[in-house]
Amino acid sequence: MGDEHARLVEVIKNSDNIVFFGGAGVSTESGIPDFRSADGIYNMKYAYPPETILSHSFFIQNTNEFYIFYRDKLLYPDARPNKAHLALAELERRGKLKAIVTQNVDGLHMEAGSVNVMELHGSCSRYYCIDCGRSFSADILHDQAGIPHCPCGGIIKPDVVLFEEALDQHIIEKSVQAIRSADVLIVGGTSLNVYPAAGLIQYYNGDKLVLINKSATSYDRYASLVIRDSIGETLGAAVASIDA
Ligand code: ZN
Repeated sequence: MGDEHARLVEVIKNSDNIVFFGGAGVSTESGIPDFRSADGIYNMKYAYPPETILSHSFFIQNTNEFYIFYRDKLLYPDARPNKAHLALAELERRGKLKAIVTQNVDGLHMEAGSVNVMELHGSCSRYYCIDCGRSFSADILHDQAGIPHCPCGGIIKPDVVLFEEALDQHIIEKSVQAIRSADVLIVGGTSLNVYPAAGLIQYYNGDKLVLINKSATSYDRYASLVIRDSIGETLGAAVASIDA
């Protein structure tokens, strides 16, 4: 185990108030493409740019095309929680990790058993009727082809934040609160260049900022520990070592 990895184990051992902030890199290790990476969906050929298709106005005006794209490119029913998701769930069970703030919409933290998860951009696991507000699980997409409809006749929408839509203020406030009061903030799988990531981690007051990312981030110079490695391998090995 390298020096940085050994230091991470010590940081985790000595804290019972860790908050994790995760980006797309956490999901890519489960085989879900990074929206913004070179081979991500933003560079795939489609009739419209993904930013257009995944916008509120496109959903309202071209719901059928939205769902064709959504079903094709945003759903990964075979994706399973990876070592990072499982390690974080284990840290929460042990009372060491207080919250996860994520930009991902795949619901894999919940699937791994994490409880206090702030999903900034919502989740592809949840759906609701835009007319009556009734909630549905992802099963609704298997039960109905094309555009899913509520028994009331309304169109069902994924509970994800589309372009042109505001983030949920309640979730933002809970995230700020968790980050502000954290002893240790571990940031993983994000270059921190994308809103709202950079803004949110500025609320961290502590002196134990840990960055785990395969490439450099704009916050490396503020971190007390920088690990350029796989988030799953790093967290998985660290949690396996805290009892040793
Ligand atoms: Zn309805």
